[in-house]
Amino acid sequence: MSINLHTYYKILEVADAASATLVAVSKTKSVSDILELYHAGHRHFGENYVQELCEKRSKLPEDIHWHFIGHLQRNKVKMLAPFVHLIQGVDSESLLLEIQKQAAAYGRVIDCLLQIFIATEETKYGMSESELQSALKLASTLTHVRVKGLMGMASFTDDKEKVLDEFQYLKRLFDNCKVSSEFNTLSMGMSADYNLALNAGSNMIRVGSLFFGQR
Ligand SMILES: *Cc1c(COP(=O)(O)O)cnc(C)c1O
Repeated sequence: MSINLHTYYKILEVADAASATLVAVSKTKSVSDILELYHAGHRHFGENYVQELCEKRSKLPEDIHWHFIGHLQRNKVKMLAPFVHLIQGVDSESLLLEIQKQAAAYGRVIDCLLQIFIATEETKYGMSESELQSALKLASTLTHVRVKGLMGMASFTDDKEKVLDEFQYLKRLFDNCKVSSEFNTLSMGMSADYNLALNAGSNMIRVGSLFFGQR
């Protein structure tokens, strides 16, 4: 399967117009598909399994910025710590502490986004508003973790108003907890809802199937 470059360029244009970063979600896709987008100039790729990410990385150019977008288990942090660009799904204080430990071991400061639960589904990971406040307080004491912002996933539904509501809620949370000038990233929006997310103020969208094809 090759990728749909025409659609990729269209989405890139929309993202650029909104000053948003487009993260190409390449989970389940082949190294050659990733390379095709790389040769088109793309550098930000997202994966949600640590093993898969590490295997692909070993076969791909070193200047790719790898985003980890899945649910991260503490015992896998050390595999990502040497190179990961942004860990997007940090959803607990114990994970923050493990990232601090592993980042220190590699002499790095690792950029993270705190994942906030905004959907009405049981299956989505993420912190509540009060957990967020506590996590921010903890993060401010960690020398090897830099919390760059928030990430969220809306409900899986055709109800656009509901999805927009959820994104607007996350945007308000984001605006209310601007803790420093480094806290500047709001990651929301996927293939089905990136336009709604950009309308609500997202500056990082994570899109895969629209141009990589269905998984
Ligand atoms: C898979 C995934 C995406 C991209 O989904 P598409 O519908 O293929 O665009 C975005 N964010 C997360 C967290 C994902 O797991």
